[in-house]
Amino acid sequence: MHTDRMPKAEAKKAEFLRSEALHTLQLPDSEPVRSLALELKESLAADDRKAVQAASSEIISVLSNSYKVATPAVKILAARPQKVSGDWVFETFGDYEPDSMRIRLWMRTAVQKKPTAFGTMLHTLCHEFCHHLDMVSLDLHNTYHTRGFFERTALLYHHLQGTPVKPIVWRKLSDGTYQVDWQKMRHSARR
Ligand SMILES: [Zn+2]
Repeated sequence: MHTDRMPKAEAKKAEFLRSEALHTLQLPDSEPVRSLALELKESLAADDRKAVQAASSEIISVLSNSYKVATPAVKILAARPQKVSGDWVFETFGDYEPDSMRIRLWMRTAVQKKPTAFGTMLHTLCHEFCHHLDMVSLDLHNTYHTRGFFERTALLYHHLQGTPVKPIVWRKLSDGTYQVDWQKMRHSARR
């Protein structure tokens, strides 16, 4: 997890700082989303694309109702597309297209065709949904990857899994961006 650079233009910078300062997110009821997350886990383990599709769409639908926002379409692909066209917000395991409000996730990595791990899949689903929330609900139209964005995503992710939230330890890089300090996070988890 690595933050975007802060934009220079005043209006964009103001939006970036608002996203940065927004550390929390109201969370939906734990059910049915936790049961649906378990369904996603089992479907992924069974390598059943239709069931992964059904569980993912249902999670997004329940979340959208809970946040009272339009429901994005979810498409599960067998593998990561090799060619990228259009205005997609592109990640390693999924993407979100703002204009059509579509989320795509892939069950396999592009090169090695290894199955995507459940934690990665669920985290990507939450990540893409948080881009959606930024744009349609939080008045954050550029949906920057700020520390606040990653913290909101982590809250939703742990809530869906029913796992405790670990505070994210950030390391500032020389260009002013931040990266997660996994070593320090593991260290603090052991203490
Ligand atoms: Zn993103």
